[in-house]
Amino acid sequence: MTALSDAGGHVLVVNAGSSSVKLAVLDPVSGRRALTGLAERVGTQDASVRIDRDGERSTSTPDDVSHAGVIEALLALMTGDERSSITAVGHRVVHGGPTYSSSVVVDDVVRADLEALTPLAPLHLPGNLAGIDATTAALPDLPQVAVFDTAFHRTMPAYAAQYAVPRSWRDDLDVRRYGFHGTSHRYVSGAAAELLGRPPGELGLVTLHLGNGCSAAAVRGGRSVDTTMGFTPLEGLVMGSRSGDIDPGVIPYVAERLGVDAAEVVRRLNTESGLLGVSGTSNDMRTLLEAAAAGDEDAALAVELFCYRAAKHVAALSVALGRLDAVVFTGGIGENSAPVRAAVLARLSVLGVHLDAEANHANGATTGGRISTPGGPVALVVPTDEELLIARDTADLA
Ligand code: ADP
Repeated sequence: MTALSDAGGHVLVVNAGSSSVKLAVLDPVSGRRALTGLAERVGTQDASVRIDRDGERSTSTPDDVSHAGVIEALLALMTGDERSSITAVGHRVVHGGPTYSSSVVVDDVVRADLEALTPLAPLHLPGNLAGIDATTAALPDLPQVAVFDTAFHRTMPAYAAQYAVPRSWRDDLDVRRYGFHGTSHRYVSGAAAELLGRPPGELGLVTLHLGNGCSAAAVRGGRSVDTTMGFTPLEGLVMGSRSGDIDPGVIPYVAERLGVDAAEVVRRLNTESGLLGVSGTSNDMRTLLEAAAAGDEDAALAVELFCYRAAKHVAALSVALGRLDAVVFTGGIGENSAPVRAAVLARLSVLGVHLDAEANHANGATTGGRISTPGGPVALVVPTDEELLIARDTADLA
């Protein structure tokens, strides 16, 4: 137990994006949420904020629609007791660059480092930094901790972390495979070891985070040794609106044919591709499964392509492990969609993993648990909780 939890303190977890801020006030030991909050359309005149606690919602429309303004407005919706229960602030930060391999207390040096990393994540880091600045201004006496999406993957060996490109691109431009979703992969790999009743140091796992964004990681002995996302979150699996792996030769070809620049093609690979691009209708797995069941062939193809690519990457990552003990499903799709898990696992019988159809329908987001038959590697559902891991790291460092 941490000093913080002994004192009964709560951690404020902040996930500040470019146009939204999500927050939670929670106990870092039990994970119990005292409240959750959301600011939407940040930076626009329609910005609104809300706090949810015990089934009751309070809302307001701030005059100051900046990150600082909406965070002030969210804090103003909390009671005095709720505010004073907060003893530290943990921030989800998308990128820690080549150096940050674990969570860190934000001081002036860290703040400057993050600013310098902005070219590596220009869409996300400015929002993260605005969140850090806003909570530092509003709660100046509390420690602020940065928890990086990339940090868990800093243990990847060079042969997995590098692209086969000119060496100067790595040395001078920091072009390398960083990986993302590290907080989720780290959380579920630890929880999977607990479920299996085995020490993490003994296990070889492939963790599959399937949400709007999707990635898989090879976790050997509790450390990430490879992952599917790379320099940006575009690489790897098929996602809601991202293509995943693609031949870079497509980019200049499409740019020329459509009369747009390369950056615009990459934007479309991020926002108009994936499940949305293949189906032509939706980036939402639940919608596509319903459409496929009703006979929509494009929706069915999108789902099949998604599941095939996921299985292909699990098989590829298993070579990084030496031994495959378990495949772990998490994220909105991984936790909730029995049909997607069944389709991925059907293709993994080649690795000796066999679906237990009954358990697959019984074990989902609320329960988690084993969904494979005995013998061979295990398949598990493990609900992720990135906020809890951020709160725990924050409590440990504060
Ligand atoms: P994010 O990556 O934005 O956090 P989530 O992890 O919540 O997103 O995942 C969102 C995805 O989960 C959507 O594609 C949604 O359709 C899917 N999903 C949620 N519930 C179900 C369900 N019962 N069946 C199939 N897909 C589901």
